[in-house]
Amino acid sequence: MIVVFSPRYLIDIGLHVFPTRKYQLVHARLIETGVIRSSDVVEPEPASWDDLALVHSHEYLAKMRDGEMTAEDVAQLELPWSSAMVDGFRLMTGGTVQAALIACGREVRSTKYEVRSTSNFRVAAHIGGGLHHAFPSHGEGFCPFNDVAVAARVLQRHGFERIAIVDLDVHHGNGTAFIFESDPRVFTFSMHQQHNYPMWKPRGSLDVGLADGARDASFLDQLDRALPKVMAHDPQCVFYLAGADPYEDDQLGGLRLTRDGLRERDRRVIDAVRHAGVPLVVTLAGGYARQVDDTVAIHAATIQEAARASALA
Ligand SMILES: [Zn+2]
Repeated sequence: MIVVFSPRYLIDIGLHVFPTRKYQLVHARLIETGVIRSSDVVEPEPASWDDLALVHSHEYLAKMRDGEMTAEDVAQLELPWSSAMVDGFRLMTGGTVQAALIACGREVRSTKYEVRSTSNFRVAAHIGGGLHHAFPSHGEGFCPFNDVAVAARVLQRHGFERIAIVDLDVHHGNGTAFIFESDPRVFTFSMHQQHNYPMWKPRGSLDVGLADGARDASFLDQLDRALPKVMAHDPQCVFYLAGADPYEDDQLGGLRLTRDGLRERDRRVIDAVRHAGVPLVVTLAGGYARQVDDTVAIHAATIQEAARASALA
């Protein structure tokens, strides 16, 4: 399985609840445990400004590039502006684009007459990404650019007609839902804690807002009901945002899932996509456990499940 990662995802954002060192730690853990080899790892290129403009407004991109953010913009983004911050997240957005192109084999596909077989299942995992709170003309909630939306737009440019996004971060995928609100080609599914950030949740194709303290069993039950609806869209590529923040000891999440429950969640999503024979792009999204080691273990388990499925394909 190809894994996309850069050590440059260690972005200096000062003292912050968002541990940007988690990316390096997940990468190191996967190498140490033999889940991946260094020869599996691809270093991304930064997303081009033209690719970013497939989703984001020119005004917003100019502000980000030139550091002309207002105090309000910075407060909404919840990250201090620096050119290194912009470069780091532009690189991370490029990582999701790269993972999508690898999973999907880069070729332009015949959309109507494609013959499905399980051999179309290919996984690329990105040790990064899942910046689902970024909107076209502003960033928010630690998300400067919407990497998955940019990658989906790049795939559309390559002729992909139907794309699905499975967002299981504890927070609603507000930016992603907004971006694709009027694009029926992209099915956006978000399952999240209803009474949590963001306050305003633009409607996606399928939104499941869970009660506080939902725990493993009801989460997995709702997931089982939702996945057939996602796959009924007949996607040619699926993006999975495997947020670690539904975890019971997360500082920003309140769904109280266990590590075993989260691994089971990953397995069910990955297996649903594998059984449908569709390319899969895995991104990490959020994770703010009190112990960063828990966040690292949850993300590493996601990649391990993806590798397991990849080996079966
Ligand atoms: Zn989150």
